[in-house]
Amino acid sequence: MPTSIIYLEGVTVSFDGFKALNNLNFIMYPGELRVVIGPNGAGKTTLLDVISGKVRPSEGRVIFGELTELSSLAEHEMAKLGIGRKFQTPSVFKHLSVYENLELACHQKSKGVFATLFSKRGERDKIFSVLEYIGLAEKAWHKAGALSHGEKQWLEIGMVVIQDPRLMLIDEPVAGMTGKETEKTGELLTSLAGKHSVLVIEHDMNFVRQIAQTITVLHEGTVLCEGALEKVQSDPRVVEIYLGREHKSHANH
Ligand code: ADP
Ligand code: MG
Repeated sequence: MPTSIIYLEGVTVSFDGFKALNNLNFIMYPGELRVVIGPNGAGKTTLLDVISGKVRPSEGRVIFGELTELSSLAEHEMAKLGIGRKFQTPSVFKHLSVYENLELACHQKSKGVFATLFSKRGERDKIFSVLEYIGLAEKAWHKAGALSHGEKQWLEIGMVVIQDPRLMLIDEPVAGMTGKETEKTGELLTSLAGKHSVLVIEHDMNFVRQIAQTITVLHEGTVLCEGALEKVQSDPRVVEIYLGREHKSHANH
């Protein structure tokens, strides 16, 4: 059995007695691309919060890589360990260029003694390789504020990728995107798998179908079902609590 990249054992997160995560067991292996789905309030964002150190479990353990127990660390220490996170709403620096946003992200990672040893040339090459990868090389000197919603999201994915995290946490990357943008985002994330471990939360089932390898369905803070797309889609409990609603909400639109 290989060493897991992230392992949650019996994790409970309580907010004034309400259990946002309830005795949750969750495991991912290096290089995996995992999609987490579930109805609103299922605990998806809380799962990312507990992995990135933003909230502490009231019970259970969160273990990263080779037996590093995260609950004893501060949030910035986790970033140093190799956990990168992209939040739901884009938070790029609007008045800086696309290039400068990536430069800042680069410095965040290499802060400290090594920052001065890191050559400008090497940094520039690295930034341009990420720009190519997210398809924004031609807009390197545009202000980030002038990008479309989809491009801002890709820039933010780039800002996580440039830090070269072992585990990337990505919350609802395609919300508000057009069909074409959604498809491109799927290709980006799929190409990250293997090199990085990627945990994606998403509502858009077309997107989930495009990228899914293994899907975890969360419900009331615990895993309802886990496996390949076919297994999850044909599970009557998943249809009842989640996919059924998806069809209803589509019918309402
Ligand atoms: P999801 O992302 O799946 O929609 P969340 O993880 O955001 O769900 O939230 C799970 C539940 O926990 C929700 O009922 C939410 O209201 C509650 N919750 C999340 N964060 C807090 C908090 N900081 N304080 C109180 N309740 C919270
Ligand atoms: Mg959420």
